[in-house]
Amino acid sequence: MMALQKILHKYNQLINLYDDNIRLYALKTQRILENMEEAINQRQFQVWYQPKHNIFDGRLIGAEALVRWIHPRYGFMSPGEFIPIFEDNGFVAHVDRYVWEEACAAIKRWRDMGLKTVPVSVNISRKDFIYFHDEEMLKPLLAKYGLEPADLHIEVTESAYMDNPDMVIRKVNEMHRDGFVVELDDFGTGYSSLSMFGHMDIDVVKLDMSFIRQEQNEQSDKMMRYIIDMCKNMGLSVLSEGVETEEQRQRLMKMGCDYVQGYYYSKPLPEADFVDYLRKHS
Ligand code: C2E
Ligand code: MG
Ligand code: MG
Ligand code: MG
Repeated sequence: MMALQKILHKYNQLINLYDDNIRLYALKTQRILENMEEAINQRQFQVWYQPKHNIFDGRLIGAEALVRWIHPRYGFMSPGEFIPIFEDNGFVAHVDRYVWEEACAAIKRWRDMGLKTVPVSVNISRKDFIYFHDEEMLKPLLAKYGLEPADLHIEVTESAYMDNPDMVIRKVNEMHRDGFVVELDDFGTGYSSLSMFGHMDIDVVKLDMSFIRQEQNEQSDKMMRYIIDMCKNMGLSVLSEGVETEEQRQRLMKMGCDYVQGYYYSKPLPEADFVDYLRKHS
């Protein structure tokens, strides 16, 4: 009898924990939905920059613009939490527009300070392809801040292609024709269709960090080498995300990977810190 009671007690504890998690999730979602509109007007979104480096000589070759939400009451919120919610309700288009503009304005600021800048990659949500017309995407911002297409890279996730292949192919190829470097983000997270490579003008493949996180053995080495070889054979460059150690960098270098991004070099930095980083690395 005692044993059964113990089991029931454990079971109840588990259910409560589960309920708590769901409640917490619902609370967070509600908070995000209730506060998103004013977040733009009150400039609560910040753009941070994570350096990208050449794997061989360590040269700084670019940076990725990553959004952060610093709420006056709730503090730091991570894009992994709010971007998926914004993608569901379409608000992501407003946030992305804001991030793209901030990134362009930042490049201009850095140049005005006399710094030699590197291209900045911006993320384009799968939903941006639906909400924006071609001519509204990035070109108007270039003109406004006196930039060239080469100053920006665009990161498109694999999953965008799966949503709506025809439209994504058309818009991505158009941006590529206009001179933007196109990076395929989160490559290998499950939706890949190799046919995508035949249709979409991609320049760089960003290997998702789950690759380098895998336990190293003969099998995982073979698979990564195979993917990198395939990309290189198609004339694409390869960047590995989430590189945290020298050992990982060495391993990727031996496999022919071109670029790395990850805590090994730097975490995403607030703009002022990235400016120092630019100074040090140029
Ligand atoms: P992502 O575009 O694949 O960005 C890479 C994520 O990996 C970033 O997380 C970055 O901080 C993290 N990261 C980089 N190096 C390392 C490392 O060495 N170790 C570990 N553990 N993590 C590393 P973050 O900033 O939290 O962003 C998460 C995702 O949110 C991004 O993934 C992207 O899909 C989305 N996101 C961020 N900013 C934007 C944006 O402005 N617009 C859109 N549409 N999505 C965004
Ligand atoms: Mg990205
Ligand atoms: Mg990525
Ligand atoms: Mg990713």
